[in-house]
Amino acid sequence: MTMNNYSDLLEQQRTFYLAGHTKPVEFRKKQLQLLKQLLKDHEQEIIDAVYSDFKKPAFETFGTEIGLIINEINFAISNLDSWIKPQHVPGSLVNFPSRNYILKEPYGVALIISPWNYPVQLSLLPLVGAIAAGNTAIIKPSELTGATSDVLQKLIGEYFKQEYISVITGGVETSKALLALDVNYIFFTGSTKVGKIIMKTAAERLIPVTLELGGKSPCIVDETANLEISAKRIAWGKFVNAGQTCVAPDYLLIQESIREDFSHHLKKAIQELYGETPAKSPDFTRIINRTHFDRIASLIDPEKVIYGGETDAETNFISPTVLDNVSWDDDVMQDEIFGPLLPILTYTSLEDAVEQIRRAPRPLALYLFTANEGHERYILENVTFGGGAINDTIAQLGNHHLSFGGVGNSGFGSYHGKASFDCFSHQKSIMKKNFLLDIPLRYAPYDGKIKWLKTIFR
Ligand code: NAD
Repeated sequence: MTMNNYSDLLEQQRTFYLAGHTKPVEFRKKQLQLLKQLLKDHEQEIIDAVYSDFKKPAFETFGTEIGLIINEINFAISNLDSWIKPQHVPGSLVNFPSRNYILKEPYGVALIISPWNYPVQLSLLPLVGAIAAGNTAIIKPSELTGATSDVLQKLIGEYFKQEYISVITGGVETSKALLALDVNYIFFTGSTKVGKIIMKTAAERLIPVTLELGGKSPCIVDETANLEISAKRIAWGKFVNAGQTCVAPDYLLIQESIREDFSHHLKKAIQELYGETPAKSPDFTRIINRTHFDRIASLIDPEKVIYGGETDAETNFISPTVLDNVSWDDDVMQDEIFGPLLPILTYTSLEDAVEQIRRAPRPLALYLFTANEGHERYILENVTFGGGAINDTIAQLGNHHLSFGGVGNSGFGSYHGKASFDCFSHQKSIMKKNFLLDIPLRYAPYDGKIKWLKTIFR
């Protein structure tokens, strides 16, 4: 498609939206149902496409992509009637008598730009919110997962009219061209670096944005935690999708006194997941491409490897790797790793742990493994992060009652469940009066009236 075609597409979607087609609640529910049907009818095709992009196992594609979206659709369909209702709020004395309410209005045309690491989920989960809230949508999936993006384009094209929902494939230039359009909302998931470009571009036309970005998410383990279970849950959350997960634990902060014990359990847990030879495990994903392979491989300091460390450039394979004795000066601690390397750092006191975390930009997630509620309270009160879990990793995303989003460098705005509906809805506040009573207090001449104002605003 050329720029002219993009403008045409935008015009078609705007016309479709302005004609009111997307607004009736029954229409929205029907479209959500259709999206679910698409996923059910083409489950295998989607799983195969994701596998061909980076060997992601079917179990993970179903569990972390298709299943999550179906779950979200079901939740939206059952709750849409209540979400969509005008929200009545109390009146105020200055406006007596009046009725006051907030309408949930769609923005109009939404642009959804997604990354490659969960290529289906991160394109279609925001779409559920966009549909539920009554918008039309243009989706730009990642160029790095070409097979998946093609399948998404084909299937969305078969199930939906392009004036309602359309997938545009392409790389950075395509993304830039779409950003030049006067859409009404931009929902971006990707890196902090590109997030800044998106916000800058959107700022020129004051288009509202949600930025779902990344960062270095800490994982703290203290001496009161059950080390065996903690190690299993951490190994799973870190190495699922080969560590290419925005909310994966990026690095470990282990209380110094349990470092040896914990390392032992961690190695055992990884071995149980992927066996002696992870390259042969059907359950371990590959790195998305050679550039990322080179970037991640260069972060492995052989002197610090206490587990794994194997790489194969031919197949973009990097084994689950644990690095010990890591410090904040090491290369691996400079940026989000986004790969299967787990550095171990230690702390002596919780204050020390908090201080270490605060030195870095605010992370998307934080995980704490502890049996001590005082420790839990201390961390939650003293560290700002997007969201997280106590005594687990990543699994918090399985609950659509929990909104999901970052803070500071890890982004802003949130979605999932009702938060997705709210994210794609403008809150239109209305105050309604009748003609029966017209209190003259506000009208000039003001002489002698200020005392009345002062009794109201005391
Ligand atoms: P990316 O920022 O490189 O790309 C994301 C999207 O932006 C792609 O569709 C790409 O085509 C487009 N893009 C790239 N450069 C652009 C530019 N200059 N102008 C306009 N558009 C551009 O991210 P990625 O490598 O695909 O994904 C990995 C990153 O995403 C990680 O940092 C990860 O933490 C983050 N992430 C965040 C979440 C979340 O929900 N918060 C989820 C997944 C990934």
